[in-house]
Amino acid sequence: MDPFVYQSLPVRVVFGVGTSARLAEEADALGVRRSLVLTTPGHEQLGREMAERLGGGFAGLFAGAVMHTPVNVTDEAVKRAADLRADGVVAVGGGSTIGLGKAISLRTRLPQIAIPTTYAGSEMTPILGQTRDGVKTTQSDPRIMPNTVIYDVDLTLSLPVRISAVSGINAMAHSVESLYARDRNPIISLMASEAIGALAGALPDIVHAPGDPNARSRALYGAWLSGVCLGSVGMALHHKLCHVLGGAFNLPHAETHAILLPHAMAYNSVAVPDVDRSIAQILGASQAAAGLYDFARRLGIPLALREIGMPESGIDRGADLAMANPYWNPRPLEHDSVRALIARAWAGDEPVTR
Ligand code: NAD
Repeated sequence: MDPFVYQSLPVRVVFGVGTSARLAEEADALGVRRSLVLTTPGHEQLGREMAERLGGGFAGLFAGAVMHTPVNVTDEAVKRAADLRADGVVAVGGGSTIGLGKAISLRTRLPQIAIPTTYAGSEMTPILGQTRDGVKTTQSDPRIMPNTVIYDVDLTLSLPVRISAVSGINAMAHSVESLYARDRNPIISLMASEAIGALAGALPDIVHAPGDPNARSRALYGAWLSGVCLGSVGMALHHKLCHVLGGAFNLPHAETHAILLPHAMAYNSVAVPDVDRSIAQILGASQAAAGLYDFARRLGIPLALREIGMPESGIDRGADLAMANPYWNPRPLEHDSVRALIARAWAGDEPVTR
């Protein structure tokens, strides 16, 4: 066995059906007496439900979270927290809302509780991406991690089928890349394989029966483990491509991940045949990339970047951007091959392993 370093994440996790009923208790355990609840503008009602659960521990609601954590929104939320004399934040929603909770805590040191309602995994990472004047920068700091994460399966039942499917593959992507990370280790690889299996089993069931609590539990469990993978080891080509293409063409986050994953896996498979085999085995396929592509097709989600708004002219620009800042990947980056990968993902073609 190769030597390795494993750093566990300092977070308390409460998982199950109906677990947000324990919100007041969990806030109390953190010494929080006055919580500021965060949501996106579309999910104020969810915020009010959390306010009810907090009872006397509710200080106020900020329903202004938006994608990519713009700093001017954080400014506003930090001011609201100060005005309300809040001594903690509760972020309920997807990665956009959880990003705001992290940004507030980084600035104010207020303890935070995250209650995720998608499978994006941000709640398990010490990473924060923020935008100022349209430019996104990312930082990592242990103080960004939520103190407590409450996974309440009930809150995911309303997640529309298409968002569930793409968000679930977004989670799977964290696990796939952690299996071939430069700093991979056996503990995270265990979690990653378990997560891919849980998501592969649950997502088709959710597409058929979105209100099935058992399928929802397995998907949320897989998303949690995938979030741990993302927060624990370094990501590679797939995450880099999603970052540059998403940023350059303002593409939706989870869909971009779902479309690119089979193609990034195909690019890397020659360098990591062991990982290819184990993912293929979990998916019941002969090759990982083909298995991931078929899986996405069966879920009925978009398979082409052109379907989600990327212009054809973006293929060349995307390849140039991906090559611009060198970063680690198990297979060295070759411009023409990366361009061909992006072109296939743009058109929705099957992934090609070579
Ligand atoms: P999101 O939070 O914008 O949510 C996606 C969509 O799902 C939105 O339309 C939202 O309204 C809807 N939604 C969420 N919960 C719902 C529910 N229960 N019922 C119905 N609709 C619901 O996006 P996301 O995909 O969860 O997260 C993406 C963002 O998170 C990006 O900005 C990404 O950069 C960030 N992110 C950060 C990290 C990190 O480690 N820092 C990790 C993953 C994602």
